[in-house]
Amino acid sequence: MTDWQELDSKYYMQTIVRVPVTLVRGEGVRVWDDKGREYLDFVCGLAVNCLGHCHPIVADAVAEQARTLMQTSLWYYTIPMLQLAELLIQNSCLDKVFICNSGLEANEGAIKLARRYGALNLNGAYEIITTNNSFHGRSLALTAASGQVKMHTPYKPLPVGFINVENNDIEAIKSATTEKTCAVMLELIQAETGVNLPDDDYPKKVREWCDQKGILLILDEVQTGIGRLGTLFGYQTYGIEPDIMALAKGLGGGMPIGAFLAKEKASVFTVGDHNSTFGGNPVTSATAYATLKYVIENDIPGNAKQVGQYLIDGLKQLQRKYQFITEVRGRGLLVAVEFDNEIGQSILMACLKEGLLVNQVKPNALRFIPPLNIGKSEVDEALGILDKTLSTV
Ligand SMILES: *Cc1c(COP(=O)(O)O)cnc(C)c1O
Repeated sequence: MTDWQELDSKYYMQTIVRVPVTLVRGEGVRVWDDKGREYLDFVCGLAVNCLGHCHPIVADAVAEQARTLMQTSLWYYTIPMLQLAELLIQNSCLDKVFICNSGLEANEGAIKLARRYGALNLNGAYEIITTNNSFHGRSLALTAASGQVKMHTPYKPLPVGFINVENNDIEAIKSATTEKTCAVMLELIQAETGVNLPDDDYPKKVREWCDQKGILLILDEVQTGIGRLGTLFGYQTYGIEPDIMALAKGLGGGMPIGAFLAKEKASVFTVGDHNSTFGGNPVTSATAYATLKYVIENDIPGNAKQVGQYLIDGLKQLQRKYQFITEVRGRGLLVAVEFDNEIGQSILMACLKEGLLVNQVKPNALRFIPPLNIGKSEVDEALGILDKTLSTV
């Protein structure tokens, strides 16, 4: 039998310490490894497979479009991307969309839009305020936008124009705002760095400040969008509306696709300002259209809200049993548990042994980002495994 993990170390750039398992198949909330072992998957492609693995709606859309028309470039009209565009706009507070291929591309597009807006409407203002511990993607610009020194260090000099300030602190945003500021860019919940929840009124305060200053609010909803927080878009959970929003992860139900959307006033691109070879690709767009339609018609966000609360309640019960759990936090099905010391990796490995995949977001914290259509029994199963592994700590 081929040792895939050895091939990895021989041929693949070693930029990540993978969990030592080779996954070959998935269905719903379960995956199987190359030895035929089954796992309950509470990572789901990093919050991507919102309907689980290989959902028939998703897989059929891929297969059907792959046999019909795969790629044309944006120089031609194609139907799937226009159906997706209409569905996104009709179900959000935004007016125009550009479809791309990943989260970082969606955020790059959002930033380019904000800079054009600044050039046209704010005397050339170009600076974008972002928050410490944010994660926005790994292009050079988004590395600068992400407020993490460890991301910056290897790649200096970074593009200028990004000001990282304290998270969840409206005064920090106020004092960083100058005549050079064109936008504030936020994750509603910092997902990749620990599921860090803001104070409930923080997003509203940021919205008010942006209105007062005439600058744009960009929401990076790459992870919080498409039902993850229990509403179709995260901004609905927090009762605000962005001027520009970036989507990706859950959007394609497992296919690589992103999108950035803008209100009419911020939709300032004109001919020649932006393009993408794979953007609006028929296969990814058709799949995203089928996924999003299913998510909306079956109130998948409502399920995420209900089952998410059930997961949080169950984890809080474990917290009462295990004193070393210091916090359980989350909204919808974006949930984390934090420990009083750096046991995240060892618990992750113990869960793996027991057949549960979870994700480590900090040395002392695990994240749960299961499919949004899971049921309570699957949560019970995961909680049971977790209980068993925690009891051995
Ligand atoms: C995952 C993520 C990104 C980056 O998306 P990629 O598709 O990996 O480029 C950006 N922002 C947030 C909030 C994310 O969770």
